Amino acid sequence: MLQTLKNYFGYDSFRPLQQEIIQQVLAKKDTFVLMPTGGGKSICYQLPALLMEGTAIVISPLISLMKDQVETLKANGIPAGALNSSNSDTENIGIRRECIQGNIKLLYISPEKLSSEINFLLKDITISLFAIDEAHCISQWGHDFRPEYTQLHALRQNFPGIPIIALTATADKITREDILKQLDLKSPRIFISSFDRPNLSLTVKRGYQQAEKHRAILDFIDKHKGQCGIIYCMSRNKAESVAQLLQKHYIRTAVYHAGLSTVERNRAQEDFINDRVQVVCATIAFGMGIDKSNVRWVIHYNLPKSIENFYQEIGRAGRDGLPSDTLLFYSLGDIVLLSKFAHESGQQTMNLDKLHRMQQYAEADICRRRILLNYFGENREHNCGNCDVCKNPPEHFDGTILVQKALSAIVRSEEQIGTHLLVDVLRGNYTQEIVKRQFDRLKTFGAGRDVPARDWQDFLLQMLQLGYFEIAYNEDNHLKITDSGKKVLFGTEKAQLVVIKREEMASKPKGRKKKAEAASPLSISSSQEREDQRLFEILRAYRKQLADEKRVPAYIILSDKVLHLLSSIRPTSIEAFGNISGIGTFKRDAYGKSFVQLIKKHLN
Ligand code: ADP
Ligand code: ZN
Repeated sequence: MLQTLKNYFGYDSFRPLQQEIIQQVLAKKDTFVLMPTGGGKSICYQLPALLMEGTAIVISPLISLMKDQVETLKANGIPAGALNSSNSDTENIGIRRECIQGNIKLLYISPEKLSSEINFLLKDITISLFAIDEAHCISQWGHDFRPEYTQLHALRQNFPGIPIIALTATADKITREDILKQLDLKSPRIFISSFDRPNLSLTVKRGYQQAEKHRAILDFIDKHKGQCGIIYCMSRNKAESVAQLLQKHYIRTAVYHAGLSTVERNRAQEDFINDRVQVVCATIAFGMGIDKSNVRWVIHYNLPKSIENFYQEIGRAGRDGLPSDTLLFYSLGDIVLLSKFAHESGQQTMNLDKLHRMQQYAEADICRRRILLNYFGENREHNCGNCDVCKNPPEHFDGTILVQKALSAIVRSEEQIGTHLLVDVLRGNYTQEIVKRQFDRLKTFGAGRDVPARDWQDFLLQMLQLGYFEIAYNEDNHLKITDSGKKVLFGTEKAQLVVIKREEMASKPKGRKKKAEAASPLSISSSQEREDQRLFEILRAYRKQLADEKRVPAYIILSDKVLHLLSSIRPTSIEAFGNISGIGTFKRDAYGKSFVQLIKKHLN
C-alpha cells in the first residue's frame, strides 16, 4: 500500500484514517467516510482501485468535478475516464471499449448515466468497487439533494459482492443515517475524521461600514499578492459591485451568480481554475464543482446564514494543506436582513436557530475554532492559536455610560427607532428625518458625539449580543429595550464592553501571517531550507506554460505545495526531484528533467 502511494501519488505516509479505510475496501466491506474538504478522501478509493482487479466505478454529481479528478489521475499516470453527457458518442464508445478491455482503473460516471449504463456495467466489465462521492446528495436532509442520486439504492442489490464506499464532507447525524439507509449498505464501517482544518486562519471584522470594508478588502488582497481567492456576497448586485471595485484597482476578477447565463458562469469558473483571474466575487452558487487546490483565501462580505454554509465555503481554501486565510465581515445590517429571510422562510425556528449560532460565532470572545468544532460535535480542550481571538484576545472596559446613552435615546424615541437613525441621534446629525421627527429636541441628541459612527455600530452590535435590546423585525426593525437593558439604564447593573481596536487592521496582517506560518504544524520547510521566492516564481511561470500547453489547470501539473517544496529543497537531480512529497514516478519521469534544469540554471 505504501509503495503504491509513493509510486502513484508521491506521498510517503497516509493521513489519519486513510490506511484503515483502504484496508476495509480491499477486504470488500462497505464503508462510509465523513472527512472534511481537503482531508484526502479521493485516495481512499483510488488506491484500492489500483490494487484491485477490474475497474472502480466512481459516482460523482458534477461534470466539472469528474473532469478535474480524471485529469489529476491521468497526470499521475493512472488510466481513468468519465462517462457523462458532455462527451461525444465516439468518446463514450472509446471509453466503454477501454473498460471492457480492462484498461481503465477508475471510471467516473454521473448518477443518471449510471442507470442507463447498468447493463453494460453488469455484463461487460469487471468492477472492483463502487465509490459514491458527495454521498450527502442522496439525502433530502442534506443541503444538495439530487433526485438522481436516489437511484443508487439499487446498487447493493444488483452488485451484491462488490464493495461500496460512500464519501462526503458534509453530513450531520440525520443525513449520515439517511445515507446508510438509502444506499442499503451491509453493516458498513463508519469513519469520521476530525473536522479541524488547522491551516485555515479565522478572522472576523465586526461593524464595518461599506467604505471601510472596501478598504480592508483591498488591503487584504494587496497582502495576498498573486494569490487566488473567493469573495462571497449575499446578493448578486453586491457580487457585481465588489467585482467592479477590484477591477478598478487592476485586480483580475470574475463574477459568478445564478443570474448569469451558463456560458458566463462556466467561463468564470474556468478562468478561476486556470489562474486567468485572481478573484471570484460570487454568491453561494459558486464552489460546489471546484476542486482547485490552491485557493489561498476566502472573504465573506456578508454573514452567511448558517455555520454549515460558512464552513463549507471557507473549506474551499487551502485544500492543499498550506496556510490560508479567511475573513468574515459582520454587521448589524446583515443580521437584520438574514433574520427577515429566516422569518419568511417557512422553516422559521430552524433557520433562526442556525442564524443565531452563526451570529454567536461571529461575536465570540473565545477561540473561534473551538466554537466551530463544537458545532460539529467535536470538543476541543485547547485554543487554536490561529484565529483572531487567540492572537489578539479582546479587552473589556466599563461601558455602562455608553450603553445608557444608547438605551436612553431608544426610550426617548419611544422605541420607534432603528440603528442607523439611532447613531444619527447619538452623533447629533441634523438629517432630514431627524428634523422631521423632531429627534433633535431629544435630550440625548448629540450625547454620543465623541464616539465615531462606526464605533457606535460596533457597540450597538455588542449591546444586541449582550441582550440589552432586541430588534423587532416585524416593526420596521425598531429597537426594543429588554429587562436586562433596563437594569443597565437605571444603574442597577454595569455593562462590560469590548475595546475596539481599529489600527490593528492596517499593520497587523504581516505579523499575523508570519506567526501563523511559524505556529503551523504544516510548515513545509525547516528554517535552514529557506524558500527561494524568485525560484518559486520561475517554477510557477514554467508550470503555467506547461498547463497551457496541455490545457489543464496548473495545479494538476504540480500543486502549489510541491512548488514550495521545490523552491526550498532545490533538488538538482531527477532522483532528488522524485523524492519530493507529491511527486510520483509518472511526474518524476515527465517533469523531472526540465524542472531540475531550471533549478540548476537558477542556482548558477
Ligand atoms: P477531499 O476529496 O477529501 O477534499 P482530496 O482527496 O482532494 O481531498 O485531497 C486533498 C489534498 O491532499 C490533495 O492535494 C491530495 O493529493 C492530498 N493528500 C491526500 N492524501 C495525502 C497524503 N497521505 N499525504 C499527503 N497529501 C495527501
Ligand atoms: Zn483560536
